[in-house]
Amino acid sequence: MCRLAAAVGVDNAAEVVRRMLLAQQHGGQEGAGIATEHDGKLYIHKGLGLVDEVFSRVDLNRELPGRSAIGHLRYATAGGTHVNNVQPLDGVTRDGPMVLAHNGNASNYEELRQQLFKSGCVLRTDSDTELILSLLGHVAGATLPERLVQMYQQAQGAITLLTLVPGMVCVSQDPFRWRPAAYAEYQDGILVASESRAFKIFGIKRWHQVPPGCIIAITANGQVREIRYATAPERRCVFEKVYFAMPDSEIYGDHVGQQRRQMGTALGRRISHLNLDGIIPVPDSANVAAEAISKESGVPLIHGLVRSKYAGRTFITPTQEARELGVRMKLSVDESVVKSQRVGVVDDSIVRGTTMRQIAQLLFEAGAVEVHLLVSSPPVIHPCHWGIDTPHRQQLLAARVPLDRLAEELGVTSVTYLTETELMTAVGDPESKSHCNYCFTGCKPVAAHRLPNE
Ligand code: AMP
Repeated sequence: MCRLAAAVGVDNAAEVVRRMLLAQQHGGQEGAGIATEHDGKLYIHKGLGLVDEVFSRVDLNRELPGRSAIGHLRYATAGGTHVNNVQPLDGVTRDGPMVLAHNGNASNYEELRQQLFKSGCVLRTDSDTELILSLLGHVAGATLPERLVQMYQQAQGAITLLTLVPGMVCVSQDPFRWRPAAYAEYQDGILVASESRAFKIFGIKRWHQVPPGCIIAITANGQVREIRYATAPERRCVFEKVYFAMPDSEIYGDHVGQQRRQMGTALGRRISHLNLDGIIPVPDSANVAAEAISKESGVPLIHGLVRSKYAGRTFITPTQEARELGVRMKLSVDESVVKSQRVGVVDDSIVRGTTMRQIAQLLFEAGAVEVHLLVSSPPVIHPCHWGIDTPHRQQLLAARVPLDRLAEELGVTSVTYLTETELMTAVGDPESKSHCNYCFTGCKPVAAHRLPNE
């Protein structure tokens, strides 16, 4: 999972993109980068860390000139945390320079890598984005859109791209559209973002989704051409809605907060037997679902967990040690509302269980008499191969521990999950026709694709 932003045919394009990246910082905290074009030359600045850390000392007008810019926020899945993997990635093809920013994961990474080695390619990183850049250099095609079409015939999986070459930016979707992307008119040009909240900072009220199997080619003066190269059953990532995107955003044309509220409402219908005194959200990602659970069940919402504004999202920190320390740095308990209470603590998802184990301990230490865990998604039982960082099956709590032993394992009084049916109904797709929910169900989103070993 990453986040993308672009500004094409727009004054101070790099600054506009910097602001759009800031509005999407939740989607990637390990690295940030912006590339621009000016008079046929490409410029790039990127580094490890948050947007402010990477760009605070950069004179954007001087170092990143031009009216076309693409930007990327990195959240490491393939490729790990190394500065070489920070995007956009740049290179030179037979037709000149090219810069690429990618959200998602190529699921046939290993095959592509071997194929490129056989053709004599030298790779510098272990990122799947470099494979896509190399493929774009190898394939036939006179124009960038033609090359993108060829590349999508070979690379499988979640491949939402921004590509910048002199005179043109393309935003493109793989045929299944695992990851979101939208574009909007702004000044005389076009803005592109993963989440609509990035448009709202400029007062933009209307945007268009990039359809699955589609390339939107934008010329340097903001002219748009839509090229549809494939039709396939869509596979929107359900986890974007459960956890990743912000609740005030629209992605794939769906309002994230509204769908998250539906998840909470469904769970709220099933908890009366727990006789709870209060519902506590794990801030901030469970706030919306917890509010809906409280409204539906009539159990008051209490702010028993207080989040420090200055600590980042913990899961996103890639090592287990950093994650464990992160929870205590990030959350503390308000004893005055928790003491002697039977509380329902709401989290959006349980992955490794690191967060919840510690939260349960904190709540009991603060005097809670019962701590019932309410999870606003089903058990995560498979790793994601399309861009969410849940690497190995052995690390997924619900895949290794039977459901009837989970409460004991997490140190809570009971565990209630959202069911698969409730989740899919909440996202408006009760028959799972247009979403990928592989992490919760193990149902392969595309029958013909080979998946890596788990
Ligand atoms: P864990 O502690 O491993 O069970 O992770 C679950 C917590 O991390 C939940 O509070 C989620 O809000 C958050 N989370 C879940 N999945 C992810 C992910 N793939 N990347 C970042 N954070 C996540």
